[in-house]
Amino acid sequence: MAAGPPLAYHCGMPRYEFRCRECVGLGEPGVFEVNRPMSAAGDPATCPVGHGDTVKLLSAIALTGSGGGFGGAPAPAAGGGCCGGACGCG
Ligand SMILES: [Zn+2]
Repeated sequence: MAAGPPLAYHCGMPRYEFRCRECVGLGEPGVFEVNRPMSAAGDPATCPVGHGDTVKLLSAIALTGSGGGFGGAPAPAAGGGCCGGACGCG
């Protein structure tokens, strides 16, 4: 009964996009997402491969969720919840 965090924990964690410049230098997209509390938004992030030369993207995280839609059609109203609708807490 004591195993597992409550779902609300995930809902309170904003998602930030980062780009790893080392991965970009290797020809990779280098973009990855990090779920972290807002209090840690400015902290440095390490890319999934382990590089430390990363920059936080200021792109519209809450507008599109997954990239590629900038300047295109506006996103539908659905999926605009605190966590992209993954947990249905909105
Ligand atoms: Zn990297």
